[in-house]
Amino acid sequence: MFFSAPRNRKKFAVIFVPAIFSMVACSAPINSVSLISSENPTTTSIAVENLDLPYNEFLPLAIEDIQKFWENHYNDIYGNNYSDLAGGVHAAYPNSTEVMPSGCDYAGDYTYVEDNAFYCDEGDFIVYDDAKLFPEFANQFGPLVTAVILAHEWGHAIQSPARNDVIYSLRSTTIELQADCFAGAWVGHVQSDTINGLSFSEADITGALLGMMQIGDSPGDSSYDPSAHGSGFDRVSAFQDGFVGGLAPCAGYETNEPEPVQFGFSPDEMSRPSPGDFPFDQDMFTSLGHDLTLFWTASMATDVSWIPPTLVVDSSSDASVLCSDSQVDLIVEGVHFCHADSTVIIDETVARNLYTDTPGDFAVGYLAALGFAEAVQRATQSSLSGYSRLLLDSCYAGMWAGDIIPLNANPVVVPTEAEPRIALSPGDLDEAVRAALTLSDSQTTAIDLGSPFARVDAFRQGVLRGTVGCATVAAQVQN
Ligand SMILES: [Zn+2]
Repeated sequence: MFFSAPRNRKKFAVIFVPAIFSMVACSAPINSVSLISSENPTTTSIAVENLDLPYNEFLPLAIEDIQKFWENHYNDIYGNNYSDLAGGVHAAYPNSTEVMPSGCDYAGDYTYVEDNAFYCDEGDFIVYDDAKLFPEFANQFGPLVTAVILAHEWGHAIQSPARNDVIYSLRSTTIELQADCFAGAWVGHVQSDTINGLSFSEADITGALLGMMQIGDSPGDSSYDPSAHGSGFDRVSAFQDGFVGGLAPCAGYETNEPEPVQFGFSPDEMSRPSPGDFPFDQDMFTSLGHDLTLFWTASMATDVSWIPPTLVVDSSSDASVLCSDSQVDLIVEGVHFCHADSTVIIDETVARNLYTDTPGDFAVGYLAALGFAEAVQRATQSSLSGYSRLLLDSCYAGMWAGDIIPLNANPVVVPTEAEPRIALSPGDLDEAVRAALTLSDSQTTAIDLGSPFARVDAFRQGVLRGTVGCATVAAQVQN
């Protein structure tokens, strides 16, 4: 976060990136060894040489499932029959003796695919790093992330000119986000229509989303870079479009390209000692409370009795002592709302850990926003409770975040010299998404935090669609 002075409002320009690549390399993230050796995934022969790989049993099933998914559903969006990958799917590792299909100047050299996975259009095959990227990612985020990476690459195969003649006229981020959307559609389909007996737990999906966040573009990268994949927020957003809506919204990207929520560091911010983050101090909390107050006060309908809450940082680890009566609600770990005094109480230790571990200041911004969202729900006499209430809080947090994105041409409160506002830095939305994914319910007071996936989905509805998005979330959770 940083402070934005009055801004030049630039309209977000649409630039078409020419189709220049025949191979789409995707940096996503063992020692060993071959998992799959196949000329064609339908006849996958599995040579498991190292049983220690955390995805040995899972990945072949996943590949088969992805293949069948496309066989069954390609026709739904493109109206003709699917043709399978002529060159198959291949594990790459040092000293592999497998003869790889030709294309894309790839001759089976491991270093060519190290720390990566890619689809080669010329040879219609997928190769992935089975020695480093996949084992490391599977260990860190769980095995599903490896299948999600392959499903993403498979998405590029679906985009191949042999199967789709539209896609290469689109922006590179659209191409990447559509591949993420396709991957989400596959995971969503597994949850409802399993072919191979696969099923994924909430933790599997959360891990896969955190893994995807890891392989977004670096904060500040341009979404118009020919190699751009989108920020973590954009990627998770596209994945959720597919997971929730199936293949139709992914195909829709071709006529209505998603606008990546990606922006660079401002020159002003770059001149600061640590661009991107406020220091963790009282000023940060004061600024957050001030901006949230500006935003919600301006957003509130005139017939709502609205008293902005006070934001208090507490190091006592007992929020109740700060309340003048006993009515204290725990919103999420580290955030309490005190009714009588209308106070949002942030636990300093929880906030500091989030700031350090996420890392980033906007993870703390998300916490503060949840507290203010609770005040909004009280002022508007929301009847929601538990998990449903938290989802709307998350959406309201997103509404505020969307208002302070530097790309926003029409913020609810326009910053002035006299009244500057917080502005998001590149990477801030990713920090909020990470925070939303990892919120803990380990607190002794039992609270129903529900699904991390749904929290992130609600947050992005607020960011991308504002009031309309949150009205939709509210209607959904009331049902
Ligand atoms: Zn890609």
